[in-house]
Amino acid sequence: MNNSSRDISRRRFIASTGLAMTSVCLVPRRLVGDEKDMVTAARKRGEEANVTVQALRRNVSALIGSGGNIAVLPGDDGKLIIDSGYLGTRGKIADALSSLSSDPIKHLVNTHWHFDHTDGNEWMHSAGATITAHENTRKHLSSSTRVEAWNFTFPPSLAGAIPTDVFNGEKTLHLNGATVALKYYGPSHTDGDVSAYFIEADVLHTGDTWWNPRYPFIDYSTGGNIDGMIRAAEANVAQATDKTIVIPGHGPIGNKAQLIEFRDMLAAIRERVAALKEEGKSLNEIVAAKPTAAYDEKWAGSFINGEAFTKLVYKGLGKETEKN
Ligand SMILES: [Zn+2]
Repeated sequence: MNNSSRDISRRRFIASTGLAMTSVCLVPRRLVGDEKDMVTAARKRGEEANVTVQALRRNVSALIGSGGNIAVLPGDDGKLIIDSGYLGTRGKIADALSSLSSDPIKHLVNTHWHFDHTDGNEWMHSAGATITAHENTRKHLSSSTRVEAWNFTFPPSLAGAIPTDVFNGEKTLHLNGATVALKYYGPSHTDGDVSAYFIEADVLHTGDTWWNPRYPFIDYSTGGNIDGMIRAAEANVAQATDKTIVIPGHGPIGNKAQLIEFRDMLAAIRERVAALKEEGKSLNEIVAAKPTAAYDEKWAGSFINGEAFTKLVYKGLGKETEKN
């Protein structure tokens, strides 16, 4: 499935180090160092990231390395791009896009509002893109939005960065000979997550409803919750076939079997944490019981560890966000 990969930036930025997987959602406070917050630190790391192009199927490619994974479909209608990465990686993203074709950038879809998926919105809009997103994504980008877990308040985005083509539910794009189905997950990682499914190519971009293979961040400040994450994981499993190529929000390109594993992990940990809570245990006692222990080796990586994920799950028990 991993077809030709070309490391565009390696040719020009030989000194860059292996920061391809770096994203804000993965940056723990303890690694922030001199930076005053995780967002600033993540943006800074993003400037040093490599951007790798991975051809997938039927002219759909993935750009991996600048914040959230980016999907691209070039063609006569102009390039369609899913998520816009970090602003600091603009040059590397532009080089990668040019390496695919000379078609102008015309269409951008945001899977959700988080800055590691939307910081490039303004420049892509300036280059000619109309921005499509869920209406809650426009809401968060249009107004001052605080994420408690990142200890950061985002100011309203520049006008050109704000999606002008919004929907709530489903929307189908017919571009470059392809059919692309956009679908709202309901509140899950945030309250504005959408999938982008390239029907003919059978390529699914899940946004941050799937992290491969990592515990996911869940943004309770803008409407995310664990039960919604599990529902989104179910929806991804239902959408994919054994042949579907799946682009996660973060991590390498994957497949249905990995989506199933992710869903099962989320559901099992939620069940364990809920059972401990039912027994009357406090959050500290639940953390001490290590309900994620069997999963940490595979999913904890070096960033969102078992304790942090236990707290994210606990936070959502019994106060689920109402589904739109
Ligand atoms: Zn996100």
